[in-house]
Amino acid sequence: MIDRLPTVKKLMRHLQQVPFLASKNMYRVTSYFLQLDDERIEQFCRALKEAKARVVLCQACFVWQEQNEQCSFCFDKSRDSSIICVVETWHELLVIERTEAFRGLYHVLGGVISPLEGVGPKDLKIEELVARVTSGVVELVFAMNQTPEGEATVAFIARKLHGKTVKVSCLAKGIPIGSNLEFVDRLTVGKALADRKLF
Ligand SMILES: [Zn+2]
Repeated sequence: MIDRLPTVKKLMRHLQQVPFLASKNMYRVTSYFLQLDDERIEQFCRALKEAKARVVLCQACFVWQEQNEQCSFCFDKSRDSSIICVVETWHELLVIERTEAFRGLYHVLGGVISPLEGVGPKDLKIEELVARVTSGVVELVFAMNQTPEGEATVAFIARKLHGKTVKVSCLAKGIPIGSNLEFVDRLTVGKALADRKLF
């Protein structure tokens, strides 16, 4: 049936490349787009293009920011620049922000070291993090997902920090092993942050 609809097939091929979009939902998502009126489709495409053109990474903390705007974290004078929370991705940053328990700066690594998935230290913002650790930085709090890769990444970075006087801490246990911070409730993450342990 789909073979007789080449344009639908083409749309689905693009949708299939969207990560986190379950393949079982593919037909529903395709139908949703086909039913949108022209104006909504225009708005959708415009929003996508605008976001792509105007959203960039802060070159210090690697958090998304609007182009030509100052980073809302790095330039916020009310935040404590002596403590940096290191996260894997932007999602974990949002989780930490939701706890309202952290008022320092952030550093987004862009993932974890994972030889199986072909991700090495050079693919992450590790050198940039080490370079940020100057005399004004007292503590790095690693808020990683509780996975072996997350732990190995912290160990790798801790070795790189050798010779620098900075405290390295991790979220307290209490976050289930193997879990993604995104799916842990706000209070548990806030508590794990408050009870963080030295690495
Ligand atoms: Zn920044």
